[in-house]
Amino acid sequence: MLSNTLKKPEIGRILRSILCIVPFTVDDAKPISLSNQEAMSLVPYFLYLEGLRNKMVDFLRGLFSSDMAIDLGTANTLVYVKGKGVVLSEPSVVAYHIKDGVKKVLAVGEDAKLMLGRTPGSIQAIRPMREGVIADFDTAEEMIKHFIRKVHKRTTFSKPKIIVCVPHGATPVEKRAIRQSVMSAGARRAGLIAEPIAAAIGAGMPITDPTGNMVVDIGGGTTEVAVLSLGDIVYARSVRVGGDRMDEAIVNYLRRQQNLLIGESTAERIKTSIGTARMPDDGRGASMQIRGRDLLNGVPKEIEINQAQVAEALAEPVQQICEAVMIALEATPPDLAADIVDRGVMLTGGGALLGELDLALREQTGLAISVADESLNCVALGTGKALEYEKQLRHVIDYDS
Ligand code: ADP
Ligand code: MG
Repeated sequence: MLSNTLKKPEIGRILRSILCIVPFTVDDAKPISLSNQEAMSLVPYFLYLEGLRNKMVDFLRGLFSSDMAIDLGTANTLVYVKGKGVVLSEPSVVAYHIKDGVKKVLAVGEDAKLMLGRTPGSIQAIRPMREGVIADFDTAEEMIKHFIRKVHKRTTFSKPKIIVCVPHGATPVEKRAIRQSVMSAGARRAGLIAEPIAAAIGAGMPITDPTGNMVVDIGGGTTEVAVLSLGDIVYARSVRVGGDRMDEAIVNYLRRQQNLLIGESTAERIKTSIGTARMPDDGRGASMQIRGRDLLNGVPKEIEINQAQVAEALAEPVQQICEAVMIALEATPPDLAADIVDRGVMLTGGGALLGELDLALREQTGLAISVADESLNCVALGTGKALEYEKQLRHVIDYDS
């Protein structure tokens, strides 16, 4: 606390430490004496100046750092910069060059994804996320660092505050791993937000209302089904079915039915171009040419694949997503379940873009299904909104665990 005998330089030093940036030069060392009463009367001014300093520091930090929200997905990583929106969306892939046992990062994101399945022995392309959590710690850190550097060019001034979403079912160890990766990638502070909450905010659902809302986020590795009410999760369940499982199903189908071996990127291309969750009405639907290796004689072969075949290949993963929704509905308290029947279900994530998935889900569950606008960006947008409106949404961000 203040002593009642203050030298002018001391007052100068206090003021300087409080204002931080104001260059006070008080050289006169002549002591001034203050009575107790006078010293006490200075306290409110010091408190006021301290508040002013905090505001200035916050303002300057905001000016020189770009606080961020990151959606660290199994398939794609998105970065939202405060005040700017989603500025980066790239595949969660890192490619290394390995020489004499030493690994060097060769490419990250889009460029690295092009190398998946096409690498020679000296190059390794890795997806560091599995089922929404970090499977390869070092690679995840390299990737986060790379993306942060790409969007945050003024790292020398101030480190950014970063909010990252984590799957609802992430264990404390997995949460700590994500937080540590973000901190060592250069964050000043790392907050976590549950992915279903972020997805629902991003999809524009009224999550703070006292009504049941169901959001189904279909990502690369998992589908997360969650029921939210009053800004929190009432029920959540994650099933290991997502875009990757759909790609595998297409690869397996063509191997079994056509003796044709294709890579996962070809399977993904089939899924995103003509993929559908329902048998086409004409029994065939659109078709496309694909190339692979004939398993009988080992030579490359080109065949035509149609939507009916893709629907057949995808029947199992689609069924599993439907079951996850039904199980969630059964486990939801009756009043909230009634709200969901009234309001319907919101689909988010890249998997929600699968052709006619909403119709297939509606037929199988009897619920009204909508696909969120910008479904691939929902989680990043929701995490970003939590960052923008942190005061109102403070309770959904976890800075401590
Ligand atoms: P994650 O959050 O796990 O990174 P995303 O929400 O980014 O996943 O979704 C990625 C998945 O969505 C990938 O498996 C991708 O193949 C799939 N996907 C993207 N577009 C489509 C589409 N039009 N049809 C079907 N699947 C799609
Ligand atoms: Mg996701």
